[in-house]
Amino acid sequence: MDPVGIAAAPDAGPGPAWQSKCPWGAPNTTSISCSLADVMSEQLAKELQLEEENAAFPEVAAVAEGPFITGENIDTSSDLMLAQMLQMEFDREYDAQLRREEKKINGDSKVSISFENYRKVHPYDSDSSEDEVDWQDTRHDPYRADKPTTTPRKGFIGKGKDITTKHDEVVCGRKNTARMENFAPEFQVGDGIGMDLKLSNQVFNALKQHAYSEERRSARLHEKKEHSTAEKAVDPKTRLLLYKMVNAGMLETITGCISTGKESVVFHAYGGKSATEDKVIPPECAIKVFKTTLNEFKNRDKYIKDDYRFKDRFSKLNPRKIIRMWAEKEMHNLTRMQNAGIPCPQVVILKKHVLVMSFIGQDQVPAPKLKDVTLSSEDMKKAYYQILNMMQQLYKECNLVHADLSEYNMLWHDGKVWLIDVSQSVEPTHPHGLEFLFRDCKNVSQFFQKGGVAEALNERELFNAVSGLNITADNEVDFQAEIEALEKMNEDHVQNHGKKLSMFSSDGDPPIYDE
Ligand code: ADP
Ligand code: MN
Repeated sequence: MDPVGIAAAPDAGPGPAWQSKCPWGAPNTTSISCSLADVMSEQLAKELQLEEENAAFPEVAAVAEGPFITGENIDTSSDLMLAQMLQMEFDREYDAQLRREEKKINGDSKVSISFENYRKVHPYDSDSSEDEVDWQDTRHDPYRADKPTTTPRKGFIGKGKDITTKHDEVVCGRKNTARMENFAPEFQVGDGIGMDLKLSNQVFNALKQHAYSEERRSARLHEKKEHSTAEKAVDPKTRLLLYKMVNAGMLETITGCISTGKESVVFHAYGGKSATEDKVIPPECAIKVFKTTLNEFKNRDKYIKDDYRFKDRFSKLNPRKIIRMWAEKEMHNLTRMQNAGIPCPQVVILKKHVLVMSFIGQDQVPAPKLKDVTLSSEDMKKAYYQILNMMQQLYKECNLVHADLSEYNMLWHDGKVWLIDVSQSVEPTHPHGLEFLFRDCKNVSQFFQKGGVAEALNERELFNAVSGLNITADNEVDFQAEIEALEKMNEDHVQNHGKKLSMFSSDGDPPIYDE
């Protein structure tokens, strides 16, 4: 090989002509001897040009020489080339994996499925013959139809009477069958591709549609994980909602998580400034984020499904909207309680499945639940009478039954009991409203009787005291039966006399903001 070709590296200058005159002297390593004839020769000019081109477009030479495969002649001076090499290496690994999958799926079957279209490195630009062999083998498989003939641009083949256009049914049908190869690998097309099937356009389009929606569905399933508000963390959409509240100045800062329950996550935040003068944002807020994991809410259906306030809406809603309805329900119920003067969080704002309310507690420390606090017997007695009073108010003034009343949902703050967690509360005329009330009464009676409050009524007495009903049964089973009979009567009455007028919009609710 001509020594000039090797020595004249791109940054070593155009050649030896000036090197002898160089003021810094000629580098002693490059002792090139060549005649004027050589310098002037057309061959040298061509070689130099090639050299330059190689430096400017390394990938051209690289692909031509195939250094990726052999590992020889690797020029590592170009970042671009390195990146391309890595990519190529990656693509090859990917293809190897694909080949293994292909083999596994096909096994010894005579009709095989090809993943050819999913390869990163096309067989044409690789010298590995493995692909080629597979391809040829299956082509001559007796069960497999030949690849459909492609129609040239002009849209037909043949002459005169024998003209076959691209719309020919048989050609189209075969083409459609072959196109099934383009569906995602996990889409099972059976032996169809291998047979001489002729799929009509209609059938093919239906299949294609299905294949695509399958792909989207699996993508969505993946997405769902992102969307569910997991332990403590919230999904991106909720994060955006919270971020907007802080950004709007409505909240000062969100400090942290107070509680993670099965159905909600509660955060503490410092309140900011309200956009409107008439509304004051409390200095500390609780943000209740209703979980968007759907299965948890299935068993709550019974609360909302039969609530006539939501009856018309429930059937038409998707699960996501139903979750928003829980938040909405809590807001409305809290507002009713607020209006009746029952100690409870004050609603600040509702945005989708996020409810902001006043914080019961101080300096980021939430008020303790009744189950966690040790009260003096005097306070215990006080608490009991307060709760009895609140239950009556709730029933008579708010037309509500808490439906999850227990020492877990009552906070002790400022020397009194505060009711929280009213998203599941229903009106007494709810088909199971009285049963829920009886359950509440059992919880309250038990807690205070165990807590040493001698005056505490038993659950049946409490039920009658709250509801104003006069059920006389002296044991739980009979009592329960009478409650159910009453509910049935009420239900029949509602059926015969139509729906009650909704009191839903008359309780002066705060605005619901929505995009
Ligand atoms: P869950 O449905 O998860 O039980 P809750 O409304 O009961 O939801 O809230 C869970 C916990 O978060 C409560 O037990 C209480 O400790 C705390 N919490 C909820 N709301 C407030 C609030 N407004 N102020 C202070 N703490 C609250
Ligand atoms: Mn609770």
